[in-house]
Amino acid sequence: MAGEFEYIAWLRSQTPDDPRVVIGPGDDCAALLPGSRPLLVTTDMLMDGTDFVLASVGPRRAGRKAMSVNLSDIAAMAGVPTAAVVSVALPKGPTPSPALKGGEQQEAPSPTPSPRGEGLKTEERPVLSPPSLSGKEVGGLGSSSSSPSLQDGGWGGGASGTGGVGSPHGIDLARELYLGLRDVADAFGVALVGGDTNSWDGKLAISVTALGEATARGPVRRNGAKPGDWLFVTGPLGGSILGHHLDFTPRVREALCLHATVEIHAMIDISDGLAADVNHICAESACGAVLVAERIPIADAARTLSATSGRTPLMHALGDGEDFELVFAVSPEVGQRLLNEPPVPGLTKIGECVESGLWLEEGGVRKPLTPTGWVHDL
Ligand SMILES: [Mg+2]
Repeated sequence: MAGEFEYIAWLRSQTPDDPRVVIGPGDDCAALLPGSRPLLVTTDMLMDGTDFVLASVGPRRAGRKAMSVNLSDIAAMAGVPTAAVVSVALPKGPTPSPALKGGEQQEAPSPTPSPRGEGLKTEERPVLSPPSLSGKEVGGLGSSSSSPSLQDGGWGGGASGTGGVGSPHGIDLARELYLGLRDVADAFGVALVGGDTNSWDGKLAISVTALGEATARGPVRRNGAKPGDWLFVTGPLGGSILGHHLDFTPRVREALCLHATVEIHAMIDISDGLAADVNHICAESACGAVLVAERIPIADAARTLSATSGRTPLMHALGDGEDFELVFAVSPEVGQRLLNEPPVPGLTKIGECVESGLWLEEGGVRKPLTPTGWVHDL
C-alpha cells in the first residue's frame, strides 16, 4: 500500500514553481508575495451527501466542484483568483469491525444529492448520519489529531477506505481529489499552496479557502444597486442538480471582462437560487427588484426536471441553487450598451430594481416573489 511519504513526494512533484509563491507546500506555512490591491478571501466547504455524492461522482469531480464554487465567489466580486489552500477530511476505510461481519451493511445508502437552493423543504433534505468519532481505527497514516498539513507534507493518505462503491480509496482517492482541484486551479492560474489533511470515520469533506486580488477598479459588492437599475444574468438557470452543479465553469473571465468594460453597481453569484440571491442584493442595497418571468433564461435541465418534479421550469430557474451564473445590476444606460454590444456571451436582462419588495412580473401582472433558496439549518 502506498504510504504517506510517497504521497507527499508525489504531491510536491505535482506543484509547479510560481513566481507569486515564495514558499509552497512542504513547510509550516505558505508564503505569498503580497499584491498591490485589496486581498479577497473566501471559503466554502463541501460534504459528501450534501454537495455531491462521492460514490456517484468520484473524487475528481468533487475536487473540481470544490475549487469552482470558491472561484465563483471571487468572480462575484470581479476579482482575479490567485491562490488556494485546501483542508480535507478523508473517509477512513471499511475495515470490517466485528459487529459488522456477516453481511450487514456498513453504511446507509447515499442520499440523493441536493444542491443548495434546490428549494427543498427542511424535512425533505437528506439526513446524514453523524459519523463515529470513536477513533478506533486511528493508527493508519495520519489521524485527525496528528495528520500533517499540506505544508507539512501534503495530504497524508490517511484514508485506507473507500469513498463508496466504485470510487477509488486511500491514496488514490486523495490523488484524484487533488487532480480535480488542480484541473480548475490550473485553468484559472490559481496556485495550490497548502492545506490540511485529516481522516475520520465520516464521509469526505473538502474545505477550500481561495485568495484573490481586486482589480484596479476595486471589488464589486452586493450593496450598490439602485432603483431603476437593470438586472442581468450571465446564463441559463435551473435544474443544476442534473449535473451542472458539478461541472460548471466559474464566471471569472466574464466578471473581469464586464468589470473592465462597464460600471457594475452590484453583483452576486447564484449559489442559493436566483430569487434568493437577487434578494441578497436587494437587502444589501436597500432596494427592491422585479423579475420578468418571460425574460428569465431557463436551462434545458430545468425543463427536463420539470417533467417529473411537479414544478414548472420557471420555478426551477427561480428557486434551484448552484447555477453559479452571475446576476448583476447596472444603470439603464449601461444596460442598453450591454444589450447593443454584449462584451461576453449569454447576457440576458431579467428585470429591474425598484424601491422595495421582491416581485415577479408574469403576463404583465406583478406578484410578490418569495425568495426561496437553500438555507443550512443550524
Ligand atoms: Mg457567493
